[in-house]
Amino acid sequence: MSKGKIAIVTGGSRGIGRSTVLCLARRGVRSILTFNTNQAEADKVVALAAEAGAPALALQLDVGDVAAFDGFAGRLQAALAQMGAERFDYLVNNAGTSSAASLESITPAEMDGLYSVHFKGVLFLTQRLLPLINDGGRIVNISSGLARFASRNRIGYGPIKAAVESLTRYMALELGPRRIAVNVVAPGPIATDFSGGMVRDNPQVNRMIAENTALGRAGEPEDVGPVIAGLLSDDFGWVNAQRIEVAGGMQI
Ligand code: NAP
Repeated sequence: MSKGKIAIVTGGSRGIGRSTVLCLARRGVRSILTFNTNQAEADKVVALAAEAGAPALALQLDVGDVAAFDGFAGRLQAALAQMGAERFDYLVNNAGTSSAASLESITPAEMDGLYSVHFKGVLFLTQRLLPLINDGGRIVNISSGLARFASRNRIGYGPIKAAVESLTRYMALELGPRRIAVNVVAPGPIATDFSGGMVRDNPQVNRMIAENTALGRAGEPEDVGPVIAGLLSDDFGWVNAQRIEVAGGMQI
């Protein structure tokens, strides 16, 4: 159904983005994935995507650097041409880093960094890529369970993800005339490299999450990638401007 389509997945080199790219590849969707610094991991995903049935390409992009977006758009157009296309169909605004800060410890610089990567990056990358996305395409932004419930030392991260959820509704409203649906996926804690691999590698944290989750465990990237890929498919064509939490029932 989605065969032959092209997706842009930011932060597709590791974790949730990687799972998304590979799930899309199994559905015949080609991806142009981005990495920030870790090209080796991106190259591995490109190879795995080809094995899974859909060629992929990797481009460098710092989503916190809006001044680089014009250059990125140029490199993206060249990558699309390499795939025999002028435009793409799906955008997944996934790239991001964590922050562990309390009300007492957070600094203006840390908050500016979170704002740049998680909000300004999503807004202005989408704006810059609007001419390159096909009408009838789809966008998925990534929030977090922490936008719904509060947790210690996430005072910058949780609220900025909540802002992405609001941004999603505004994007959906403005892109409706182009038949572009925009939804937001809010994962619970997922065992990736995020936060220094805390959810995966710290047994105490992992147990605490499992105890607060109805399905009794922390999430894996493979719990989230298929949801994002599914939301991009025609099966979810009439789902628009929605927040979908993918957290196994955490803090319910
Ligand atoms: P991850 O495993 O740490 O991977 C992060 C990915 O984003 C990597 O591909 C990384 O590229 C890229 N990236 C990081 N900073 C970037 C920047 N400034 N510019 C461009 N790319 C950048 O993280 P993840 O767990 O998959 O998280 C993905 C998304 O899910 C994030 O938006 C995160 O906030 C959200 N999320 C995560 C969890 C969780 O518990 N894991 C829960 C809720 C929401 P490099 O490899 O080059 O560094």
